[in-house]
Amino acid sequence: YLSGKNYSTSIFFNKDIQHAAEVKEYVITHFQEAMEKHWIQVYYQPVIHAISGTMCGSEALARWNDPHYGMIMPNSFIGALEETGQIYDLDLYIFEEVCHDYDAYRRFEDDVVPVSFNLSRRDFDHSDLIERIENIIQHYHVPHELINIEITESAFVEDVSHIGKVVDHFHALGYQVWMDDFGTGYSSLGILKDFAFDEIKIDMSFISNFTAKGKKIIESTVSMAKKIGVQTLAEGVETREQFEFLRQIGCEKIQGYYFGKPIPGYKMSEHCKTHDIPIVSLNWKDYYDA
Ligand code: C2E
Ligand code: MG
Ligand code: MG
Ligand code: MG
Repeated sequence: YLSGKNYSTSIFFNKDIQHAAEVKEYVITHFQEAMEKHWIQVYYQPVIHAISGTMCGSEALARWNDPHYGMIMPNSFIGALEETGQIYDLDLYIFEEVCHDYDAYRRFEDDVVPVSFNLSRRDFDHSDLIERIENIIQHYHVPHELINIEITESAFVEDVSHIGKVVDHFHALGYQVWMDDFGTGYSSLGILKDFAFDEIKIDMSFISNFTAKGKKIIESTVSMAKKIGVQTLAEGVETREQFEFLRQIGCEKIQGYYFGKPIPGYKMSEHCKTHDIPIVSLNWKDYYDA
């Protein structure tokens, strides 16, 4: 029955699946080695304050720079590590790298911006999550106010009240807690109502769907957030037009390729200089000499 065209498409499709399965298997078996040999690294993407156009933060994102496969992106390893439970070790490793980078950075720079890092819903299965995070932050003497914890909205499906308690506890310790991928879960408004988030990150699917209707949804989300005292950040901003619109409707923060892709931390100052992005200065001394 198969025409030549369909036949080759299906071969291609099978090869793709086979490749994905192969990478998944590889990731699971080489994860420990990848951490030990620093194939897994932290990249940072700038977060821009919409009104002033300054850099006011960054997000830490995992990258797996593999000697065999080259750059493996999170979409090819996060899901696999969530299935095996190894994600917990990854997230603690990334957080430790972030704190380590902070520690190095403050030795030669006066200015500092907050950093966000991502927790997986699987991390909440571990009763020592808060303790492990606290041990790391204290070891590197990083102020809690400089850390934003991003939790994807879709994490709030299973034991919602348990995750809520952990969120409250993180808050009480001084961390900022952000809801990631807002608008993609089953009960975006319900979660917003029941839990205290400092900020919501509007999912990039809303920004890329830049139709009249899409824009109205973004605008309503921003004004609703303002009414309940939550800040908004728009993810996936790629064009000047998107940026101008978001600024006009009062979205506080912007993250996207328009201002920069994720890059290694040591390249950030240079990136900001070349792209004329001033860095908002919080002074380290305010945190350490007080
Ligand atoms: P996320 O937390 O929502 O992070 C934003 C993703 O959007 C990043 O993809 C970023 O590179 C991408 N992005 C940012 N701006 C643009 C843009 O203008 N256009 C487009 N097309 N994409 C943009 P990335 O780094 O591939 O990560 C994908 C997802 O993997 C993350 O989504 C997060 O859910 C997960 N992830 C990444 N690192 C970690 C980690 O260390 N731990 C955990 N648990 N999850 C992570
Ligand atoms: Mg995130
Ligand atoms: Mg996410
Ligand atoms: Mg997101």
